[in-house]
Amino acid sequence: MLFKRLALAAFAAVLASGSALAQDSYPSQPITVIVPFSAGGPTDTVTRLIAQSMSTDLGQQVLVQNVGGAGGTLGAGQVAKAKPDGYTLLLHHIGMSTAPTLYRQLEFDPLKAFSPIGLVTAVPMTIVARKDFEPGNIAELIEYLKKNGADTTYANAGIGSASHLCGMLLQEAVGVEMVTVPYQGAAPAMTDVIGGQVDMLCDQTTNTTNQIKGGEVKAYAVTTPERVPSLPDLPTTKEGGLPKLDIAVWHGLYGPAGLDAAVVAKLEASLKKALKNETVKARFAELGTLPVSDDEATPAALSKELSSQIDLWRPIIQAAGTYAN
Ligand code: ASP
Repeated sequence: MLFKRLALAAFAAVLASGSALAQDSYPSQPITVIVPFSAGGPTDTVTRLIAQSMSTDLGQQVLVQNVGGAGGTLGAGQVAKAKPDGYTLLLHHIGMSTAPTLYRQLEFDPLKAFSPIGLVTAVPMTIVARKDFEPGNIAELIEYLKKNGADTTYANAGIGSASHLCGMLLQEAVGVEMVTVPYQGAAPAMTDVIGGQVDMLCDQTTNTTNQIKGGEVKAYAVTTPERVPSLPDLPTTKEGGLPKLDIAVWHGLYGPAGLDAAVVAKLEASLKKALKNETVKARFAELGTLPVSDDEATPAALSKELSSQIDLWRPIIQAAGTYAN
């Protein structure tokens, strides 16, 4: 009996040291970060910049895979079901906090299905339109939408996407219902606004700054209380008479629930380094994006933000009465 107990203890010790070893050598193969929207869009842009720095830091390739659809819930659902070994991660945005209210049959619980690693950025949004859209400024846009909103087409990246939320707030603020055109991400939505197939879009500065500066789209306002340094001439929605249209998009990095604490700590440290990387910072600044501070690039800060944003958006969505299923 004693022998059996000793043998078991020895076996447990071997197992424990084996798993400690596995974490010591993590990562020993490429890591995939799933972006739940199309390539070339804002979430993708932020992820690829971070992934590049993390690849160098971790000594393993950090690959980005785009799994767009259903406002980000398809890609997030895939990570929720992934093996919690640190080799499948998710970089998602504010949509993680709106999905549980918008999608009544959501297959995962954002607060239980993931291991939070850290917040990544805060990104203002901008209201833009095809360049030959009639209204010349935000005041004219409001007037135009009041008369022609029902005939105006509005692109978004699916229900629960940031562009959908911004559109929902815009419609509520103006008191109209536009014709919504959903895409798998904001990149194809922007392509169609530039091509004139759809009238309007509200999206992160990461996906609109170059297009605004290059004159490919017409810009009306930025959706944060402060103007954005990279687009200093663009008024805020507050200045334009829409103070309730106040939204900034936050991104977070997650693994599936059950990630080992040592793996989370390694990824957290690497995320923090990426956010301080000079190339990442410079590119973020050009695109009007703010990397979060060290205190926010933590599992605790992301957990807190996620649950407070779920509480914040629930009544707004319920009041708007828009649901995906
Ligand atoms: N920014 C987009 C949205 O939520 C999604 C994307 O990153 O493509 O509207």
